[in-house]
Amino acid sequence: MRRKLVVGNWKMNGNRLANTELLAGIEAAGPFVADVAVCAPFPYLSEVALALQGKRIAWGAQDCSSHESGAFTGEVSAAMLAEFACKYVIVGHSERRAYHAESDQLVADKAKAALAHHITPIVCVGETLAEREAGQTDAVVKRQLSAVIHTLGHCIPQIVVAYEPVWAIGTGKTATPEQAQAVHAVLRLQLRAATPKSDDMQILYGGSVKPDNAATLFSQPDIDGGLIGGASLKAADFAAICRAA
Ligand code: 13P
Repeated sequence: MRRKLVVGNWKMNGNRLANTELLAGIEAAGPFVADVAVCAPFPYLSEVALALQGKRIAWGAQDCSSHESGAFTGEVSAAMLAEFACKYVIVGHSERRAYHAESDQLVADKAKAALAHHITPIVCVGETLAEREAGQTDAVVKRQLSAVIHTLGHCIPQIVVAYEPVWAIGTGKTATPEQAQAVHAVLRLQLRAATPKSDDMQILYGGSVKPDNAATLFSQPDIDGGLIGGASLKAADFAAICRAA
């Protein structure tokens, strides 16, 4: 039986006061049956770590470098994230792929860098609307995951996968539970071919998850929780989604 996991991706939102209030609100609404984590912007990680230390909510970052150290201005290494006890790091979010031209191989290399520092990479995959309409959804997500499978080898069971259809992110257009489940099943099959441990791996859904649609999404057989953007910024909404898992 896989545990459910709900992760808040704050993206480039928040400030020190708002973060403190948000974390206090989530904490007060718990504990939750599901595992819960928040992925904060880099500058806030140390305060988030202090606020959540010893609590049942984990924390993580939204990206990391594929490099260990060196002349990479503006980048943050997985080793640095490990110093702040990050449990998770999101890699390959569609906003990084689109606005920073991140390739499938770079995303795979970031996942590898995270694992080298005992941080669980949450590897995002997902198709654009044009790709879905062209009938390419399965091919796109399989290509994205394939780079990670080949780069990580036997370490593949240590990642979390997040299916985030680009057309559902921040648009209020959620994939139907059936649409999401269909892609999750494709990803599960691909993982099954790569490792005997695929049934233990968590595959999260992300894209306009809200309190009113979370439960039906999370009840699908291959949907093991969610990666939550907008609704993770309001304690009441995020807590309701965590309770639905
Ligand atoms: P929204 O929940 O705002 O659609 O964002 C989803 C997402 O991109 C999480 O990583």
